[in-house]
Amino acid sequence: MQQARLVHVLGNTWCIESHVTIPVYFLNDREVILLDSGYANWDRAPLDALLQEHGLHVQAILGSHSHNDHNGNHAYFQATQQAEVILRDVEAAIVSDFSLMTAAYFPSTPGELERELPYLQLKADRVFSANTTEISIGSKTFGLVPLPGHTPGHTGIITPDDVFYVGDALLSDEVLQAAKLPSIMDWTTDSESKRSLLAEHHSRYILAHRGVYTEIATIVEENLSDKNRRTVQLRDWLRSRDVWLLNEIEQFLWKQLGLHGKSFLTRVAFQRNVRCALEYLIAEGMVCREFRDGAFWYWVIQ
Ligand SMILES: [Zn+2]
Repeated sequence: MQQARLVHVLGNTWCIESHVTIPVYFLNDREVILLDSGYANWDRAPLDALLQEHGLHVQAILGSHSHNDHNGNHAYFQATQQAEVILRDVEAAIVSDFSLMTAAYFPSTPGELERELPYLQLKADRVFSANTTEISIGSKTFGLVPLPGHTPGHTGIITPDDVFYVGDALLSDEVLQAAKLPSIMDWTTDSESKRSLLAEHHSRYILAHRGVYTEIATIVEENLSDKNRRTVQLRDWLRSRDVWLLNEIEQFLWKQLGLHGKSFLTRVAFQRNVRCALEYLIAEGMVCREFRDGAFWYWVIQ
């Protein structure tokens, strides 16, 4: 088991470095608030061991969004530590039901999803809306910044120490280099959220994937350029044929991106990411989609 590491950020704000970076706010010596809870498979045991070693109780989990690498242990800590789970309303609605999760995040049947990722369904204890700018947990107040696009209700969180957790709105340079296809639901809105981060000025920033930073302007620019580069690359790749069916595009990109693996998550995440990328190319006027003879056909128009 890979060990999780507790790293000091500022004041009472720390982070746990595990498979992802999980910010932690210390209410006191014994009680903490987690901002997200990592993967169920890979982060649960290291997290449990670290919390036990330091004698820590999870008072609450304030979530950035409901992807499985960030909410894998919400239900677990809710059940084992009576942690209060606090989520944006739309994200809470999605994870409240497997059929909504299949529609929003994981193209599969609700039964398959329940079998593969049973820990994802949960009932949030408290929800907030896009208009909520602050939320109190105990005597402490956290700032909330809507950063939609990556998911519909993706939210940035500012700790009482002025540490801004941007979740998945930005990826570190290292992670961008290794990424095959971004997991972004709405590319246009996501770019607006990324740009809005240039106007945010805080003492520190935490990225879920990953690390702690004193400034993010360079990272924002790198993330925006990376998206532009990928958009042009996808369009140029699709020029290699006159017209495509969706499954032909999926097969082509799977090979072109050098992907492998047969796991349920690899498959559903890939399918979702291809569709979201194609929708962006259509929205940008680069690709056309037409329904003909019972199927959607795609082609590059510029
Ligand atoms: Zn995510």
